[in-house]
Amino acid sequence: MQDIHIPLARPDIGESEIQAVNEVLRSPFLSLGPRLAEFEEAIGARTGARHAVAVSSGTSGLHLCIRGLDFQPGDEVLTTPFSFIASANAPLFEGVQPVFVDIDPRTLNMDPALVENALSPRIKGILAVHAFGYPAAMDSLAPLAARHGLKLIEDACEALGSRLGNRHVGTHGDTGVFAFYPNKQITTGEGGVVVTNSQEVAARLRILRNQGRDPDGSWLDQVALGYNYRISDLQCALGLAQLRRLPEILEKRRRVAAHYDSLLAGNPNLELPVRPAETRSMSWFVYVVRLHQRFSREDRDQIVSAMMALGIQCGRYFPPIHLQPYYRKRFGYRPGDFPHTEAMADHAIALPFFTAMQAEQVETVCRRLREVMAPYHRRP
Ligand SMILES: *Cc1c(COP(=O)(O)O)cnc(C)c1O
Repeated sequence: MQDIHIPLARPDIGESEIQAVNEVLRSPFLSLGPRLAEFEEAIGARTGARHAVAVSSGTSGLHLCIRGLDFQPGDEVLTTPFSFIASANAPLFEGVQPVFVDIDPRTLNMDPALVENALSPRIKGILAVHAFGYPAAMDSLAPLAARHGLKLIEDACEALGSRLGNRHVGTHGDTGVFAFYPNKQITTGEGGVVVTNSQEVAARLRILRNQGRDPDGSWLDQVALGYNYRISDLQCALGLAQLRRLPEILEKRRRVAAHYDSLLAGNPNLELPVRPAETRSMSWFVYVVRLHQRFSREDRDQIVSAMMALGIQCGRYFPPIHLQPYYRKRFGYRPGDFPHTEAMADHAIALPFFTAMQAEQVETVCRRLREVMAPYHRRP
């Protein structure tokens, strides 16, 4: 592969971030210091959640949600197979089986119309994913979960800044998780945060993230089987500096997406990402186009390879979770089980997308994509 001229994603780190991390390095508090509580408070203020518990990754946050909401081995949780693998793995860490329902092909999120039929006495919760930052149908899922006594977790790892109505995603259920890997809207290097409005759940999560130690009692009282899912103060300082820039970051990403929209509109071979209705607002995580259905998966793979050869890094988000070798072997899933997920997975191309992306870079990507796809235009 040629050198990457335009990467798929890139963090946007400025001087204020570097300075914030340096300050922590000059202090004696590299972990469990003052930045942790400040970061959690800032996340709470930004999302409107009453409590925020910062952790080592989005995945550890999802795991703690399963533990903290008291799922038991043998329980099942409804979720979608069109997601990053962690949203299905986290329940499995606790012997809780993810039971998949297909996505709405327009929103790429759980289709609420399929949920009632998928319920059974073993289903104890719903884990809704806000894929690519597009807000899932929490306005349907939250009342449905309440009606059936189900716990509700939001995987908002790709959706910091997205809203439904006037409420931030992640605050519609029992818990919500955001993640800060370097390709997300904001980064802490590695990191995540769980938000909740329940004091009790927040307290439990704080115990579990720190070895099961009682936070009020002595450091050495272990009251539960916990983990080291702590996040360092270096990371929290970075997260705080990034969070201060969030409005600027979201606006820049919105502009990159709008520029792509304007350059790619009218191409009969491409479907562009959907925009949410006006009661929702979307924080752009990635920019994923969908090839027309007459393209095969092999066509898509060739187009992606051709772009890569030109130094433009493209992604194939997401490979369906149910078709991963581990899931096929353990649960017997087969191609055809979730047609909307598979059709999207076979036709998706994630184009380079990041906060500091320049207009000329967007133009280069679109020009190259047009060239690479040209042979396909002439097909009958
Ligand atoms: C990024 C992400 C996560 C968590 O990822 P970590 O790398 O563990 O922080 C979980 N779910 C989705 C949908 C994600 O995109």
